[in-house]
Amino acid sequence: MKKNILIIPGDGIGQEVTTWGKQVLNRIAEKYNHEFIFDEAIMGHTAIEATGNPLPDETLEKAKASDAILFGAIGHAKYDNDPSAKVRPEQGLLKIRKELGLYANLRPILLFDELLDASSLKPEVLRGTDILFFRELTGDVYFGEKKRNEDNTFASDLMNYHRYEVERITRKAYDAARTRNKKLCSVDKANVLETSRLWREVVQEIAKEYPDVETEHMFIDNAAMQLVKNPKKFDVVLTANLFGDILTDEASQIAGSMGMLASASIGDGTGFFEPIHGSAHDIAGQNKANPLASILSAALMLDIAFGLQDEAKAVTNAVSETLKAGWRTGDIANSETAADKILGTEEMGAKVLEFL
Ligand code: ATP
Ligand code: MG
Repeated sequence: MKKNILIIPGDGIGQEVTTWGKQVLNRIAEKYNHEFIFDEAIMGHTAIEATGNPLPDETLEKAKASDAILFGAIGHAKYDNDPSAKVRPEQGLLKIRKELGLYANLRPILLFDELLDASSLKPEVLRGTDILFFRELTGDVYFGEKKRNEDNTFASDLMNYHRYEVERITRKAYDAARTRNKKLCSVDKANVLETSRLWREVVQEIAKEYPDVETEHMFIDNAAMQLVKNPKKFDVVLTANLFGDILTDEASQIAGSMGMLASASIGDGTGFFEPIHGSAHDIAGQNKANPLASILSAALMLDIAFGLQDEAKAVTNAVSETLKAGWRTGDIANSETAADKILGTEEMGAKVLEFL
């Protein structure tokens, strides 16, 4: 298979971890006889410094022309203390999402047995958890009309959804459910919200096209509770923008560290694959960042963008073997981890390549 992959390392630890996601893709290409052609582009603070623009035209053009994008992170501490800065790294991210028409955010919550003690939940509750969230990205209260009256005694955010917005993400989620355990849970608040009633109707209609997939509908309040009570009961979870925002952050904590979670944003064109963590300037340039989230983002690309399930599995297996052998970065080490098993970014990335 021949694919053009754009690497956008971004800022801070994004630059350190993305190189490992790329090397893993390279190794997969050799091993499975694919041709992956890599290009690189700048974005975020790095791009502002170089060009004054957080998303230079050249980066956007390369992005549109590629088959998939492996992204690191953007951000810089200087903007945190300057909320009024006109040109900001995040503008680049929002713009590229819009330009690429990315409407579904996918976040797998994949737990490795070796790290069960990194979570605040009990190992017996967690063991076997493997959830794939589909969060809608273009509708909901984020983009509806916003109002405030003059004396500040009233405000409103309009929650809205178009049928086509629900349809397209629902099909993506069902397609994914077919490649997994054929179970889909759609989360809404259809007992109260009209948008949720439309959401549920659309999901019920599309469910008929997927009779092999078992469908469940759950209210958001119940889903939030079940997620920490019995996370194993979920497989593919499909939900709207606001509910997904909250639910995926809740779910990230069952996995323990930010350094372990990957995400994908997809639409009908080029997909965007990235760790959920940010640029983490507190540890940047110190060879401390965990590269596994970037490596798992590469696995997600192989699976979702290219349909290469065996190759994706080979990557997650290599991560699993690395952890099984006891190797850890600082963020996933615990008080019992031997000091000589705690590795830097470079050494950890190299271990995964070895197992691969
Ligand atoms: P941003 O402003 O871009 O979100 P951030 O500095 O807030 O970046 P986060 O990604 O939100 O960084 O992470 C919060 C903290 O978690 C970091 O400051 C860092 O200490 C830790 N962290 C995040 N990602 C990793 C990683 N890959 N490896 C190790 N530690 C990490
Ligand atoms: Mg942050």
